[in-house]
Amino acid sequence: MKRKMFYLIIGLFLSANLFGEEIIIEKLTEKIFKVYYHRGSYTTNMVVSYGEDGLLLIDTGQAEEAEDVRNAILEKWNCLPDIIINTHEHIDHTGGNNVYGKEPLIIADALVRRNLTSGNYVFDEFPDYSLPQINFSDSMTLYFNGEQIKLMSLHGSHSANDILVWFKKSNILCIGDIAYNGYFPSYEDPKGVLEFSPIVQELYNMIPENILMVPGHYDNLKKEDLTVFKKMLDTTINLVLTEYKKGKTKDEIIGLKLLKDWESYGKGYFSTNLWIEAIIMSQEAENNKKLYLDELYKVYKSGDLNKIEAKYYELKNNSYDEYFWIDGILASVGQKLIQKKQYEAAIVFLNLERKEYPNSLYAYLDFYLLGKAYAGLGDYQLALENFRNGLKLSPDSKRIKEEIKKLEN
Ligand SMILES: [Zn+2]
Repeated sequence: MKRKMFYLIIGLFLSANLFGEEIIIEKLTEKIFKVYYHRGSYTTNMVVSYGEDGLLLIDTGQAEEAEDVRNAILEKWNCLPDIIINTHEHIDHTGGNNVYGKEPLIIADALVRRNLTSGNYVFDEFPDYSLPQINFSDSMTLYFNGEQIKLMSLHGSHSANDILVWFKKSNILCIGDIAYNGYFPSYEDPKGVLEFSPIVQELYNMIPENILMVPGHYDNLKKEDLTVFKKMLDTTINLVLTEYKKGKTKDEIIGLKLLKDWESYGKGYFSTNLWIEAIIMSQEAENNKKLYLDELYKVYKSGDLNKIEAKYYELKNNSYDEYFWIDGILASVGQKLIQKKQYEAAIVFLNLERKEYPNSLYAYLDFYLLGKAYAGLGDYQLALENFRNGLKLSPDSKRIKEEIKKLEN
């Protein structure tokens, strides 16, 4: 299970930098609105309740878009959130927590606060005020803008801290990433793959007929859409596991094109082949490997960038079995540091990624990020060189072409 958390890291890394699209505010009722922006086929949904008590915001989106979302809220309602609820810890739902300052009260499952300060998120550097102040572990009830809002934990499929947020009077339910409308689910831990179906059933049994569900991504769902989603889960999992249990390998199973009837489900964040791989990984033995980022973060904070590479190899040589060693982790740190304008540190991580994984599928993105970092430092020559190297590996990359055009003019 080497690839636990892999998609979380790489997937977000791959979809990043497509920001700048329009923010859409869609009215669901007099008081409840869906707020989202497009990133290709992958949209992140947020929900606003606005009324006499103020503004409540469910999820805050990716860090890159957070300022735009904040401005859109300010423009539409002339105020900022009093309360923020995070449906779970993932960075595309919590990444904007910090742009609202110290004012809003943040509510989430009890695991979110702890998790946002370590591992995968350590280089995101969540300031203390952007971490949930109200932490619950089972359920809680809020009264806001004239209605009862029920928060309920429903853990274990998409993440270990998923919650539902139910506006009882409006009959609108925010379900985070527990179910999608017409797409394969995404997950953090392969063990969660088999949990989607029972959890979706539990959700189905809990809700009335005429409810409207807003997922964390893609289109809203009605109750009957859960039946379709569950059927897809049960059928695709059964098809893949039947072959797996006959001893077929991942590549052989992919070659069988078993999921051809569900091709359209693979057009979002999670492709059909990744879903097949996820189902297979759900069968593999558990291990307790972790990310080495906490260790590298300490060195980064000590200010001595020259020691980062030495620390990395110290961990790799002495504690190899304790950690995940996969491509994309170092590059994702580079990307976060570029966002913080820490260009020199970003280059250290990106060069290490290049050195360790020169033939990674994502090598063109490493060059792209190196180009961004050198451009940030004002070294346009090296920036151009890196962008051109990236373009050689990915000749159709729109974002790299745009960067080259900018620098050549
Ligand atoms: Zn998520």
